[in-house]
Amino acid sequence: MVGARFLRPAAFGQTPATGAPRKLGVALLGLGSYSTNELAPALQLTRRCRLAGVVTGSPGKAEKWARRYNLPKKNLYDYGNLEQIADNPEIDIVYVVTPPGLHPEFAIRAAKAGKHVISEKPMACSVADCDAMIAACRDARVKLSVGYRLHFDPYHRELMRLAGPAGMGPFTKMSGDFGFKMWGKQWRAEKRLAGGGPMMDLGIYVVHAACMAAGGIAPAAVTAQEPPKKRPEFFKDVEETMHWTMEFPGGAVCRADSSYVHNANRFRAEGPNGWIEFRDNAFAYRDIECRTSRGPLEFDPPVNQQALQMDDFADCILSDRASPVPGELGRRDIRILSAIYEAAATGQRVLL
Ligand code: NAD
Repeated sequence: MVGARFLRPAAFGQTPATGAPRKLGVALLGLGSYSTNELAPALQLTRRCRLAGVVTGSPGKAEKWARRYNLPKKNLYDYGNLEQIADNPEIDIVYVVTPPGLHPEFAIRAAKAGKHVISEKPMACSVADCDAMIAACRDARVKLSVGYRLHFDPYHRELMRLAGPAGMGPFTKMSGDFGFKMWGKQWRAEKRLAGGGPMMDLGIYVVHAACMAAGGIAPAAVTAQEPPKKRPEFFKDVEETMHWTMEFPGGAVCRADSSYVHNANRFRAEGPNGWIEFRDNAFAYRDIECRTSRGPLEFDPPVNQQALQMDDFADCILSDRASPVPGELGRRDIRILSAIYEAAATGQRVLL
């Protein structure tokens, strides 16, 4: 069973019966806080896709979502019967929104069922798992993208533009910090499910922004230090805080921090031709505070990043073009994160 089976009507972008533009059906898999508070509401705003079903481990949640979003019973799946989604032409895309340690299993099963896949970030806990996800989607001839919503945010698009030759590029010095105070016990402090601590969940945003500021390239080398834990009993097998440095080809350097001990959400890039500073909410869904050396930056009206991200992926499928946030980009970031962990563990400068 491969994606091509359901691709034909989508490839023409129309519903055969009516000729109206066809909206691709999205099934959210994992109905936790991000699905509930951000993705499902965003899917009410999308133009090229719609919430068509759910995959969940809780029958109670499936019923609640069905009532709230008017989902037919045949579009409700659990983790055990996910394979049956292959026979449902109303579902085109499975969006995997579980803890990262489970992204590979669900992404691969969805691909084998012939569905296009969006994996939330971080894509997986290892490069090998990213490779397996990419291979499964390639073999099933379905598309794979990562939930990198900031690629569709106007402030971060401006960062990418300014990093280029037509903007202020090249930036040579970057810095960033993303953290929040974590109190309650949850999967984010469990290595098996999270892959690591704040580095995997939050640091990845700084890593990604630094690569944007460097012109869309990966660093050539990293160094890192993990300071002593304040609550070792809570962060048993993951870091509580990480400090790291990324050295890019051409000489740009990013110094960054990520932590579950302090609140921070900022990023700055500067070079000989100017600077851009995300003073607060740098990586947030909304209310990003941003200035450049040319003055304050404000994009109005605000956008819904997730709606733009999902619409773009639907458009990639409908027009058979490559996603700007493909599995390979998710893999690149996991490779960088793995190098940062290696640098912290060995005290060595790690080449990529
Ligand atoms: P959450 O804990 O609120 O939800 C996780 C969901 O996975 C729940 O529905 C839970 O029932 C399900 N699940 C299935 N198996 C599980 C298991 N063995 N242990 C724990 N939960 C299990 O988490 P969340 O904040 O919704 O995050 C989910 C994913 O979305 C993560 O990959 C996270 O990094 C990502 N996320 C992305 C953004 C973003 O801005 N792109 C924001 C928040 C979360």
